[in-house]
Amino acid sequence: MNACNLCGGAKVEVAHANVFGQGVSLVRCVACGFKFYDRTYMQPEAFYNSPANDDFAERSYMYGSQVIARQTDEQAPANKVFLVSYYGAVLDQVAHVLGRQPRTLYEVGCDWGAFLRVAHDRGIRATGCDLNRRAAEIAQKRMGLDVAAGAFLALDVPTEQDVVVLFDVIEHIPNPRDVMERVWGMLASGGIAAIKTFYDEYHQTVPLDLSPARHMDRGLKTTGYFDPTAHPCHFDLPVLRALMARVGLNVVKETLDEVNGQVTLFVRRPAA
Ligand SMILES: [Zn+2]
Repeated sequence: MNACNLCGGAKVEVAHANVFGQGVSLVRCVACGFKFYDRTYMQPEAFYNSPANDDFAERSYMYGSQVIARQTDEQAPANKVFLVSYYGAVLDQVAHVLGRQPRTLYEVGCDWGAFLRVAHDRGIRATGCDLNRRAAEIAQKRMGLDVAAGAFLALDVPTEQDVVVLFDVIEHIPNPRDVMERVWGMLASGGIAAIKTFYDEYHQTVPLDLSPARHMDRGLKTTGYFDPTAHPCHFDLPVLRALMARVGLNVVKETLDEVNGQVTLFVRRPAA
């Protein structure tokens, strides 16, 4: 078992043994409470570039970008209006926390670039990256964006950014502290980051001793949150706040989405 990526602690205890009867245990760092799966299971590069994931991507999490990219779809105009207004509202929130309109913004895990495109259309220098090569290529070619394909921790990234965003990303990366340290380094003095992820408290009613099939039978909440390949990290709110503090980012705002069990943390790199 690997050491805790948040605090370096080597001592872990089993939080949930044999999750869903699939032979993998979720562990908790004794020192800081961070819960994670054994990182030797994780191969994000392969996972996010597998054909199965491309298919999944088209059906679900990349759908928003497709709607903006594909104007010919009958429903696209209405959906585009919705997405532009939804992402526009996120940008308004970002500007409010920053205290002005951002000039530069970087998105980690931008998929096909829907959010970046909306930011770009507001005159923001909006760039980003995605681990899925196909998604990054579409962001470049179809959406006309400056997006790199590859792992965030391995890519060259810009510095002096007003804003860095990670939506539904940090729970997928086995070393979240490394990610947040890098985000800190990208931000201008006084710049902000927005991090949306699941919060663990919401998901505690999922019975982890039942197989996924039994969950379906009983009409219970999805088991996806506890999937060890997709979600190596499990943050409760105090652990998330502590992660930000550890890397020198101040939490300035938190918004809870109590329908989907997600939180968005807005954090600031203090002015030097
Ligand atoms: Zn720890």
